[in-house]
Amino acid sequence: MKVIQIPLLRDNYGYLLVCERSGEAAVVDPSEGEPVLRQAEKEKVKLKAILNTHHHRDHTGGNAFLLERLSLKVYGHSIDKDRIPGLTHPLEDGDEVEVGELKGRVLFIPGHTRGHVAYLFENKLFCGDTLFVAGCGRLFEGTAGQMLDSLSRLKALPGDTLVYCGHEYTEKNLQFALTVEPTNKKVVEKLTKVRALRANGTSTVPSTMAEEWETNPFLRWDSRDVRDNLTKNYPGISLEPVSIFAHVRKLKDQF
Ligand code: ZN
Ligand code: FE
Repeated sequence: MKVIQIPLLRDNYGYLLVCERSGEAAVVDPSEGEPVLRQAEKEKVKLKAILNTHHHRDHTGGNAFLLERLSLKVYGHSIDKDRIPGLTHPLEDGDEVEVGELKGRVLFIPGHTRGHVAYLFENKLFCGDTLFVAGCGRLFEGTAGQMLDSLSRLKALPGDTLVYCGHEYTEKNLQFALTVEPTNKKVVEKLTKVRALRANGTSTVPSTMAEEWETNPFLRWDSRDVRDNLTKNYPGISLEPVSIFAHVRKLKDQF
């Protein structure tokens, strides 16, 4: 299996998933159509499907362009059947999707939107705007409880899972992470590394789930440092995971 990252719009990433045995491919979240088509031609693959993580325009904006030129299956959660342009294959949690001989599993992870899904192929997780490197998506349509459940499912994946998210937000996310956990050395180290990468325009995605466990403030509701810090700055705050998560999310919205 080959994954080709395609930078789209200002800071979005689409992904071409290629089954090298069959030469067939799918694209995850085509924000725009033309660069995706060009990449597929360059790789000499047969584009067969669009895998949308959620309905937002910066993840589906290229669907129409691609569908005008190619005959494609379009996958997304059944909740979004009227919101994802051209949806042909409404999905539920646990469904399987195929790209040539590759098989992926659908994880229903609402919170950012009501119909958000992730696609897991082998150890590669395409998680849209739910989990970012060192961050998570805003709660546009869901509750903190839903998002916590969704992030908990992702957090439970093996540490060597590669996290392919929908945006290049890493640097800003790590700056925020430091305000939540100023003494986390892993965050300091990663921010240094990420600044060097961004200085020459290099992508910081994918990350691994193990790195996210150590550096992502939205997965660290169990961390002593996160708890101590929140208690110090916000005396009386509830230390239930959902309260910690909701509080950190609110702080990020204001960051
Ligand atoms: Zn979104
Ligand atoms: Fe987005």
